[in-house]
Amino acid sequence: MKYIFVTGGVVSSLGKGLAAASIGTLLEHRGLKVLMQKFDPYLNVDPGTMSPYQHGEVYVLDDGAETDLDLGHYERFTSGVLSRMNNLTSGQVFDAVIKKERRGDYLGKTVQFIPHVTDEIKARLHKVTDDNPEVDVLITEIGGTVGDMEGLLFLEALRQFALEVGKENVCFIHVTLLPFIKAAGEVKTKPTQQSVAKLREIGIQPDIIICRTEADLDEDNRRKIAMFCNVERKNVVAFRDVAHTIYECPLDLRRDKIDRLVVDKIGLGHTPSPALEDWETFVQKIIKPRNRATIAVVGKYIELQDAYKSIYESLIHAGAHHDTKIEIVRVEAEAIEDRGASEAIGAVHGILVPGGFGDRGIEGKIQAARYARENKIPYFGICLGMQIATIEFARNVCDLENANSTEFDKNTVHPVICLQEEQKGVDTMGATMRLGSCESILFAGTKASDLYGGADRIHERHRHRYEFNSDYQDRLQKAGLVISSVSAGEGLVEIIEVPEHPFYVASQFHPEFQSKPNRPHPLFSGFVKAALERAHKDLEA
Ligand code: GLN
Repeated sequence: MKYIFVTGGVVSSLGKGLAAASIGTLLEHRGLKVLMQKFDPYLNVDPGTMSPYQHGEVYVLDDGAETDLDLGHYERFTSGVLSRMNNLTSGQVFDAVIKKERRGDYLGKTVQFIPHVTDEIKARLHKVTDDNPEVDVLITEIGGTVGDMEGLLFLEALRQFALEVGKENVCFIHVTLLPFIKAAGEVKTKPTQQSVAKLREIGIQPDIIICRTEADLDEDNRRKIAMFCNVERKNVVAFRDVAHTIYECPLDLRRDKIDRLVVDKIGLGHTPSPALEDWETFVQKIIKPRNRATIAVVGKYIELQDAYKSIYESLIHAGAHHDTKIEIVRVEAEAIEDRGASEAIGAVHGILVPGGFGDRGIEGKIQAARYARENKIPYFGICLGMQIATIEFARNVCDLENANSTEFDKNTVHPVICLQEEQKGVDTMGATMRLGSCESILFAGTKASDLYGGADRIHERHRHRYEFNSDYQDRLQKAGLVISSVSAGEGLVEIIEVPEHPFYVASQFHPEFQSKPNRPHPLFSGFVKAALERAHKDLEA
């Protein structure tokens, strides 16, 4: 196995995850088998317990691991399906070391950061190597910024690891920022030089430097960075602000032949340069769509760029498939409570209510679901959005007054959404939800079954505690609600639909974790198609 380690310098939010993912795309298109992973230096065992304000979206894997949102980029930019082994946090590392110490595994030794903590990090790299013998290249992104105290142990572990596996098998890539100082009209390289100096201080000499720039990187600056960061000039790569979409990133990085530089460094230079036609076509569809449709995403963390990342990406994938630019209108659920649905979302072509926790904004979301149902606006509910649709239907179609989820009203007379027995005894927060991929059965003759191309079994990822209450199933069905999918084992409701509606579908699972460029998720695709049809009707009217 060959290894690529991607570190970041100068500032955070540089697009380091996208740079790593793009390298994954390029190498995969060279015919290499790529596996991607992330090391996060924070002390949480996983981001599952963090607020979206802290962390953005929590990305869920097939095996139920709650991970960093960069793993979403990795899965979308490469064909790999990742596992909990592919996101290591300091919390996991220390947890493992302390458990070993308590078991007496260290045989009376003093347990220390070096070697015990660094050994634990290296052990993870060896384990991932051993578990994936078919993989050619393992790309590991190190979270945080070089110079942070938290990241030091990871970097030291990588330095040692590179020596152990042979430097010829390892490529260190450092992603940095070249700030543009407007007043001077100049791009500055000093922060990059200092950040690389910090890396070299701990014994890591980057092989390639990726420079984030607003504009282009001129020859002078390339030469300067090469000279003072001790790399060859050709190994200074520009990573420009992309004009339209993050899916341009691999194309941009290819301009300076990053994939060639990497494969030459790790001895895989015999692989053919990548044909990226499929990727280019996809990007063109995003850049020059023929149609437009407006979709309201009604959420609670709507002002945050990253809280619904995978949902926004899935809408882009489905939009590209239908040659449609999706204009996303971000609607704060509480604004609907204040202004009413018709004012807040009356003009859109589709309404999406994403996942969420806690009761803030719930009534606004219920109003949105009702407005969509009554006015025949395409509605797509995801996880909480499905629970909302159920509550709305119970209240306004079945006349179950004050129906609710016990998450929001413990004593509701009509708990149409409630905890499953096994969740009732749970009193810790970390990794205790219903998590990961589960099989469910699709019923023929439903819209969902059509969308999935007639499949009778599907596998989708979950992250929730509350469920559709089966005691109400009959009553809701008699009133016209269609249950189009239930889980294979327990018969838990997975998808609901409202018939005689252009598109009213809601899933208990999170389809956004399995949508890819050129392979949009069928539910997103169906939703966008319905929104587009509504947009066309609006134009005709
Ligand atoms: N809060 C709801 C639950 O726990 C929905 C979770 C979600 O939307 N991810 O069941």
